[in-house]
Amino acid sequence: MNITRDLEVCTDCAMLIANGECADGITGYDISQEIAEAQVALWGEGIDGAMGLVLDTGEPHFSSNRCDGCGSTDAADRFPAAHIASRLEVAGR
Ligand SMILES: [Zn+2]
Repeated sequence: MNITRDLEVCTDCAMLIANGECADGITGYDISQEIAEAQVALWGEGIDGAMGLVLDTGEPHFSSNRCDGCGSTDAADRFPAAHIASRLEVAGR
């Protein structure tokens, strides 16, 4: 088991991790698939399609840093997160 801590994810990623879906904050259009594909591109599909991204404890804060979940550079809230991967996944990288 390999755990990557101290990640920061955008609101879209946090919503997808917590609820399994997310929507554009302006239009309400469902962007779950787009965000999920961006996460898979960065982290791989993991076990049974789960990306292994989880929300961590702590308060969100405003940042323009790149989102560790999907790569977004939009300046907005970032939520503490972590990535959990099996040794097999790590070895495959
Ligand atoms: Zn993101």
